[in-house]
Amino acid sequence: MKGFRIGSAFGIPIRLDLTFLLILPVFAYIIGAQMGELVVLLNDSIGLGIEPDALTGSGLARYGIGTVVAVGLFVCVIAHEFGHSLVARRYDVPIQSITLWLLGGVAQMEEIPEDWKKEFNIAIAGPIVSVLVGGLSYVAFLLVPADGFLLEATRFTLAYLAIMNIVLAGFNLLPGFPMDGGRILRALLARDRPHAQATQQAAKVGQAFAVMLGLFGLLAGFNIFLIILAFFIYIAAASESKRTVMNAAFEGVTVGDVMTPRERLDVVSPTTTVAEFMDRMFRERHTGYPVVERGAGTTSNGASGDRAQAGDRPVGVVTLSDARGINDVERDAYRVEDVMSSDLRTVTSETPVIDAFEIMQREDIGRLLVVDDDGTLVGLVSRTDVMTALEIVKSGGQPGSSRLGNEAGATVETLERERT
Ligand SMILES: [Zn+2]
Repeated sequence: MKGFRIGSAFGIPIRLDLTFLLILPVFAYIIGAQMGELVVLLNDSIGLGIEPDALTGSGLARYGIGTVVAVGLFVCVIAHEFGHSLVARRYDVPIQSITLWLLGGVAQMEEIPEDWKKEFNIAIAGPIVSVLVGGLSYVAFLLVPADGFLLEATRFTLAYLAIMNIVLAGFNLLPGFPMDGGRILRALLARDRPHAQATQQAAKVGQAFAVMLGLFGLLAGFNIFLIILAFFIYIAAASESKRTVMNAAFEGVTVGDVMTPRERLDVVSPTTTVAEFMDRMFRERHTGYPVVERGAGTTSNGASGDRAQAGDRPVGVVTLSDARGINDVERDAYRVEDVMSSDLRTVTSETPVIDAFEIMQREDIGRLLVVDDDGTLVGLVSRTDVMTALEIVKSGGQPGSSRLGNEAGATVETLERERT
């Protein structure tokens, strides 16, 4: 998610995703445009007791109230996310941020504990906060006197937020991933079965809900918001299920088991000219190489077909597109070190595969260099390596470097594709 920070509370940064800036005016507009109907609805449900056209006198009043209510709604969503986050933090789960986006709020936290009681408490805390906020809004609504436009507008806002917080809690308690109800369901299922199995069952329920919601959205006059929501629920349920399957499959598997080992890794020296490097890429049909500095006492590198050796120290990664940034005529004057990217992400061969995969996903990079404790290169692990290993594990095999190490060429070529 691309977004920016708007502040923080309890030491947790609050961020706005760019998609949120699209949805906020839409909400303000819808609430403003439907003010008359909403007043009738609130009169009937919560005893608002005002004339349907009392707040709709001018466009400014109508959309002004719409904006205040929309902002209030998202503040309530933030409160809901703080419910999850503060309970999670009590269990020492680090919280990176709370982000508002197109479809509401997300609390970005590290791995939620697989202890069912902790997961249950973290999941239910959000809806509990929503119910409390809804109750408080209702009490405040009762306390504000009905006197004049501003106070009526305030009563409308409080009544609306009271109802919406209950709706928010109710929706989130739907028993399927990725709603809180799905986590609650998984926690309860995980009491007497493996975590991965409980996740898959909760995810299936979530996907079934998504399909029903999508159909409802289609039949109820093509409600685009419901259709988008259904789509995201479906995707999120599927990816949660996939992630858990990977977690279970890769238990105890390390980067060393799936990486392309040093002996099969083509590398290039930082002092190779860009022209030579281009020649070599065309000859070997690779589109990216780790750049290494050779340890003392070994032969120099840069030659065709040069493989990594013990003692090689990675200093960067260079790709076809890096080299293409240099003009044809200047390629003899530039060296690999001038064009390579030296912002290296490394892991060790003991790093769990699942952690390496998460780093690649999070930072949107296709591969990680694998280094020793002393910083020398021992291999390279790519998304392709991880996915191949997953296929082997799922079909009942054992991951191991002998079976899994891709030829370096294949590895680096797919990397380039994955980068874009
Ligand atoms: Zn929630």
